[in-house]
Amino acid sequence: MRPPILNPLFSEVNSLPGIGPKLAPLFDRLLSGAHRPARLVDLLFHLPYSCVDRRSRPKIAEALPDQVVTLEVVATEHRPPATKYGKGPYRVIVEDDTGDVMLVFFMNNPAWIEKALPIGQTRWVSGKLELWDGYLQMVHPDRILDAAGLAKLPPIEAVYGLTDGLYPRVLSKAVDSALQRLPKMTEWLDPAMLAQRQWPGFSQALESIHHPQSPENIDPVSPAVSRLAYDELLASQLALRLVRGRTQRVKGRAIQANGEMSQKILQALPYQLTEAQRIAVAEIHRDLSRPERMLRLLQGDVGSGKTIVALLAMVAVVESGHQAVLMAPTEILARQHFARLGPLAEVAGISMTMLTGRDKGVERVGKLKALARGTAQIIIGTHALFQDSVNFADLALVVVDEQHRFGVHQRLALSEKGEAVDILVMTATPIPRTLALTFFGDMEVSNLREKPAGRQPILTRAMPLERLDEVVSSLRRALDGGARIYWVCPLVSESETLDVAAAEYRFAALQGRFGKIVALVHGKMPPRAKDEAMAAFQRGDARILVATTVIEVGVDVPEATIMVIEHAERFGLAQLHQLRGRVGRGSGQSTCLLLYKAPLGETATARLDILRQSEDGFRIAEEDLKLRGEGELLGTRQSGTPGFRLARLDVHADLLQMARDDAALCLTRDPELASPRGQSLRNLLYIFEREEALRLLRAG
Ligand code: ADP
Ligand code: MG
Repeated sequence: MRPPILNPLFSEVNSLPGIGPKLAPLFDRLLSGAHRPARLVDLLFHLPYSCVDRRSRPKIAEALPDQVVTLEVVATEHRPPATKYGKGPYRVIVEDDTGDVMLVFFMNNPAWIEKALPIGQTRWVSGKLELWDGYLQMVHPDRILDAAGLAKLPPIEAVYGLTDGLYPRVLSKAVDSALQRLPKMTEWLDPAMLAQRQWPGFSQALESIHHPQSPENIDPVSPAVSRLAYDELLASQLALRLVRGRTQRVKGRAIQANGEMSQKILQALPYQLTEAQRIAVAEIHRDLSRPERMLRLLQGDVGSGKTIVALLAMVAVVESGHQAVLMAPTEILARQHFARLGPLAEVAGISMTMLTGRDKGVERVGKLKALARGTAQIIIGTHALFQDSVNFADLALVVVDEQHRFGVHQRLALSEKGEAVDILVMTATPIPRTLALTFFGDMEVSNLREKPAGRQPILTRAMPLERLDEVVSSLRRALDGGARIYWVCPLVSESETLDVAAAEYRFAALQGRFGKIVALVHGKMPPRAKDEAMAAFQRGDARILVATTVIEVGVDVPEATIMVIEHAERFGLAQLHQLRGRVGRGSGQSTCLLLYKAPLGETATARLDILRQSEDGFRIAEEDLKLRGEGELLGTRQSGTPGFRLARLDVHADLLQMARDDAALCLTRDPELASPRGQSLRNLLYIFEREEALRLLRAG
């Protein structure tokens, strides 16, 4: 139950004075997407994005156009529109002892204007000056004040995001009322940290952001905003730790691997593991051998060789007499894994099975039996593995490939198919550390930063689509030299049908030119045809593979050395990096051609530049984060991970690290959050609506 002291924060906005049934829906729309009634906490966390500085009080002769000023003036003349219902504006000439200014009103309410600006009386008008026809004017002053009004004019005024029909002053007034209802809560942050950072208390921080004394107050790095961002990050890190502490307490199984099967596989490999791979395998084996559950993220750039690491993890589990699953995001990828790993499993005498949505009827029943009896030791599959009808004899490890494609829920669903299942998630979209921390909290991370030896840098070139003919001609030469080529067609829209049309068109054109060696693969093709196209390209019977982004993830044909991406400007940076990563996998020199439609926008130019400069997925991901904002990168919409309201990972990344350490320390000292500070931290969890984690405390 929420501590009663917090109730005012969670009361609805319509409980504020002046907000009735007409205004309330506008607040709901603005603050909660109209999903539920907006509450005071939503209003208070609706921070101003900018502010108006009304401190400038020049004489008219010194006033400059395009600036917000507050002028002390006397009205000398009213000029109503020519006719009563006439169009033109209502003008008022005002002056001080240095000059005059024209106030312009496009409204038909002369009585109001006459009352607001009586001839001969001193008033203060505040607003933006403009130069019109050589004359200084102010259209609709924001404020017209007498001496009493001026005394109450805030020097700096917060500017908020609004919604249709909701006026700035109505919102500001509501915020003021909400601030007055802020409960007096005990500080939850460490006093030493507050002092050292010169951060204000929670209420003070809100106060100083909503009533800024200077424009710096609302800056994302100001002490006040930093404090609130930190509160939010700390709440999320505490919640993650509480959840994780709970899953860790669920006892895992200590995997006793003897290394015999692994040894056979290593001997059968045509290469040596890289140092990075060896370290990752050792880290995973160590986790597996412990009696706690493993939750580890294996990050490795495209082509860094994650698959073999996954296999060695699974083999350890099999050596110990259990089952392991490798889950791929697409059918194509599941098949590729099965084709690659099957022979290696055979060498070690392991029985490997593949289960995808395509398995039907008797075949499927047979496979399900093998899973349930335990005769299938390693199972490779797609999301079909989530289904209720799928049961395992003794599942001990789940490896999730390209985890960003899966939601957190699916991952958990699968881990529930066995007792104390260890989880290894792999991603080739390198997740910047900041993001990994936010979303996985204390998940352990292994990195494959080093690529297998002998890889050459990929030559990346950007050129306008007008040169498409030239590109096609150059492909002829490359084909004569034995090259294998991917040609990726644009993502036209959200519509898969349109993407497919574009790919089919390009396929026909290239086939017209090069004949039978051109193959096509896209998401709408019948499964068998898809397999056949991929297989033909893998064998080298097809030498150009025209594809939609189905090949984005994981596809591995080391002989392919040329990647052409049509309409590269339509792809995201991470996606381009993924696509490019399909080449440069062997020892040959690879090329990536980014064909773009000119003229390029600013962001698109930046993207293509970064891509040409760097092949480092980590750097690219960081840049992507800056260009796109954090949510999209991880596909948070799918995973349903709650986002942040105040913290911005591009600005507050250092705070995240601090919050993580802070949360660890708090929970080590006070695992049940029972101390006085622990009680305050509970308030924090409620305020940021992370209280679900507290339920685990009670249950555990
Ligand atoms: P990703 O990390 O993108 O999933 P893969 O696991 O598909 O990468 O590996 C990419 C390619 O590199 C594969 O062809 C694989 O056989 C090869 N490979 C993996 N490890 C090594 C290594 N240590 N030395 C040489 N080649 C390797
Ligand atoms: Mg892969």
